[in-house]
Amino acid sequence: MVRYSKCGLPAMTVEIKGLGVKCSECGEEEAVVELRYARKKLCRRCFTDFFVRRVKRTVERYRMFGPDDRVAVALSGGKDSVALLDALKRAFPEQDIVAFYIDLGIHHYSEHLREKVEALTDRLKVPLHIYDLKEREGYVIDDFLTTKFRSKMCSVCGIVKRAVFTQMAKEVGATVMATGHNLDDTVGTMLSAFFAGDFESIARLKPVLKPLLPGQPKKIKPLFNTPEIEDLYYVVLNDLPVQECSCPHSFGASVSRYKRMLDEMERDNPNVKFQLLSVFIKRLVPMYERVKALEGEEEAAVEVRPCKVCGLPTSSPDGICSRCRRVAMLKERGGQRLEVSPREVKAMMDEGRRVVLIDVRPESAYEKERIPGSINIPIAEFESRQRKIVRKLRRKYGRGTIFVAYCYAGRESYPVAVAMRRWGLRAYSLEGGIAAWKEAGYSLEESSEAT
Ligand SMILES: [Zn+2]
Ligand SMILES: [Zn+2]
Repeated sequence: MVRYSKCGLPAMTVEIKGLGVKCSECGEEEAVVELRYARKKLCRRCFTDFFVRRVKRTVERYRMFGPDDRVAVALSGGKDSVALLDALKRAFPEQDIVAFYIDLGIHHYSEHLREKVEALTDRLKVPLHIYDLKEREGYVIDDFLTTKFRSKMCSVCGIVKRAVFTQMAKEVGATVMATGHNLDDTVGTMLSAFFAGDFESIARLKPVLKPLLPGQPKKIKPLFNTPEIEDLYYVVLNDLPVQECSCPHSFGASVSRYKRMLDEMERDNPNVKFQLLSVFIKRLVPMYERVKALEGEEEAAVEVRPCKVCGLPTSSPDGICSRCRRVAMLKERGGQRLEVSPREVKAMMDEGRRVVLIDVRPESAYEKERIPGSINIPIAEFESRQRKIVRKLRRKYGRGTIFVAYCYAGRESYPVAVAMRRWGLRAYSLEGGIAAWKEAGYSLEESSEAT
């Protein structure tokens, strides 16, 4: 059993065990993965071959790259990009492939992912290029919690990542940029754009995007027809190093409505995601592009030019790209701290500021031992009832209150503090948790009687 988390999604659980039948491909090994749409039950080795063959075919059919291209794979450390790099390496062993990783400076999280991508690229012998956002640009993603984008962290992060990856491609001389978008992401986004009448966004989900300006990389999505769950199977069956904890900014976020809808439809029709993909890519997008080309003869096409700040392509009227516009809004670059030490908390209390300590551990732990005066909101409860809890806290303690969440050692309370920030509360996480509090020599309150 493997628990898996992805940005914007709650943990995905997958159980891989023998299906009690022989593999429908080799007839020798026991099958471990069932692919309903393909009517196949495959063993570990045959599934891996099947997966790699599809990636190879996709790259060739859409002419994603040629022998002279330098292909950069954008690694996040998540299952999709990890599976992508490994499969590309197997499908095209002779290709010039490099890996990119952006250290976004997301506390407790980016470091974890960095270790994973280092282990992976070491094993696959792929050169790894790391872009440290803090080092290179002086800010980290967490800093956006002080801006009006605090409720749209995943969107800001996506914009920053896209821009940085394009920049890295230029620095490293990569002509092609591969990302791990899978079938479920692609069709889910297409469906939601379709309901919004946003055909432009649907067209951008094509598996190959030509560069907007000369010198920019071509963007490809070799996994756009690979079901999401198969990326997870692939990573687990091949024992690849992959992300094991989820992003604090996605804490409490739910799966997109359209992805959920597609999963439901898939129960009756195992082919539904492939069918929709084909309608969008083969019918709708070409039709839309023809209409756009016709209109373009009359209307002036949107002009794409280099951003005045960073030089990457933008079509915004003021000539500043969406990344640079957002970064300009950061009031204090790198000044934002979401963690406070026990001493700082004590100091705030001594100054007479209204500080409310929130123990996010389970009730049993709180009952046994807690920081004096703290209240208990277990993390699971906070996650499922965020809105209500935040409204209650605000009503009870008032606007100027400082909330300090704590857990055992500081890891679990961090996403809670981040989520509270998103809701507009002045929240911090206690560095080192209750353990650090104890170590600093401050008193704890113990249960008077254990019943
Ligand atoms: Zn087999
Ligand atoms: Zn820019």
